[in-house]
Amino acid sequence: MLKLTAQDFHRRYAPTECDLRIFLRERGVEESPPSEFEQVLMRLGQRYEAKHLATFPEAIDLRSFESDKRFEQTVALVKDGCPVLYQPVLKVQKPLDDVESEFIGEPDFLLRERDGYIIRDVKMARRVDEGHHPEIVFQLQFYGWLYEQVFGLPPIRLEALNGQGDIVPIPSNHQAVLAELRALIRLKRLSQEPYEPVGWSKCIGCGFRDHCWPKAVTAKDVALVYEIDQSLAAELHEHGAASISQLVEHFNADSLSGLKRPWGKKFQKVGKRAAMILQRARVMLSGQEVVLHPPIIPHHEHYVMFDLEGMPPHLDELDKIYLWGTQVFGKTQGKFMPAVSGFGDNGDHEGWKQFLTNAQSIFQQFGDIPFIHWHHYEKTHLDDYVERYGDAEGIAARVRRNLLDLLPIARDSVLLPLSSYSLKEVEKYVGFKRSQTEYGGSWSIAKYIEATETLDENSRNKLIGEILIYNQEDLAATWAVFEWLRAKAS
Ligand code: SF4
Repeated sequence: MLKLTAQDFHRRYAPTECDLRIFLRERGVEESPPSEFEQVLMRLGQRYEAKHLATFPEAIDLRSFESDKRFEQTVALVKDGCPVLYQPVLKVQKPLDDVESEFIGEPDFLLRERDGYIIRDVKMARRVDEGHHPEIVFQLQFYGWLYEQVFGLPPIRLEALNGQGDIVPIPSNHQAVLAELRALIRLKRLSQEPYEPVGWSKCIGCGFRDHCWPKAVTAKDVALVYEIDQSLAAELHEHGAASISQLVEHFNADSLSGLKRPWGKKFQKVGKRAAMILQRARVMLSGQEVVLHPPIIPHHEHYVMFDLEGMPPHLDELDKIYLWGTQVFGKTQGKFMPAVSGFGDNGDHEGWKQFLTNAQSIFQQFGDIPFIHWHHYEKTHLDDYVERYGDAEGIAARVRRNLLDLLPIARDSVLLPLSSYSLKEVEKYVGFKRSQTEYGGSWSIAKYIEATETLDENSRNKLIGEILIYNQEDLAATWAVFEWLRAKAS
């Protein structure tokens, strides 16, 4: 009997949408253990849920029953009209399209209202809708469908408590759930691993990355080419160009530009990007970079490397930057100038003010110096903070005028034999070495959350010290990439 649980929706859509995850999980392919960041997320989620549970002192916690008795207990308690059930189990065995299946769901709460029940799940996500978190919507709709199978009546309502503390109603939709369940059944029953293109941001947080990425590299899969998106990779597979070599053998710029691939609900031609895709494919095959034109970098004696560390919006109401890192490089090297947000109520504002003070002192010493950053995160958050706290002396506006994003300059002038132009990949390519064995944006967030939670000052200082080393090395890495790029400009 095929088993389908609410977790399957999560596997299909989180951290990113991928059908292959369902198949691999069903086949028992080994998954990497949760990262430090994922463990922090789980812990925060459990704490948030426990806080909500504490608002229902009358709740019956179904976890206190043996696991094989929880379903029977749930049914009995609902029939008795129990006001609040925590971690109930809903279960039904029935065929779907002739496939004998067992469907199991464990919503967080059943809350009695009038003569029925509300089904409520507690989530850390700030936005609970189909666009941002389809897995949450499907899970609740699945619980609604299951509830009706078990009790013969629909629940009163489906709702999610989101990360901002709002109760979000979720519309019931049996048709959508059944379509999802059919898709899951099909994926679980496939006899062969289906083709699923790898993608840098798609695979980075997935537990099967160590399974998929090396396979794609060995096969020289077209999906590894920087300009090739998921839909185009799948289309190229269909057209006999599964590998990068096949792509350059079977297509020229004309034929590739005319190839149509699914794009939303329509089809779209590859168009003008075709020539660049083929060029990048050849670079991947040769392993040799190609300079398209000298990178355009304004000449100055000094430059500030500028890098922010921030909380992901779904974990922090404020979308907070906890570290504003700056350091001057060039003819002379300045000292590392981090502005770390404090841990008190005004910590966020204090971090911002310290950053403005640092920037002001840099301007006083070096005049209108470029602030070099990688990608648009710094620009976006500078604007957010001006909106949040203002910029009375115009220092942030001056930083804004002097920003120089190195990523588009590198990406548009040098074709690299890489699948990603993330700073971490490009710095490795140019030979930059870090001192830390573990590092990264998510790692840093996990350390910062640990620092905010500990009451021990020594531990907190140690954790902040590790984050500072990471940020300082980010700045040094940006400078290393900058110098490598600048050498091509001359
Ligand atoms: S590593 Fe990528 S392709 Fe493989 S299962 Fe995960 S998301 Fe899908």
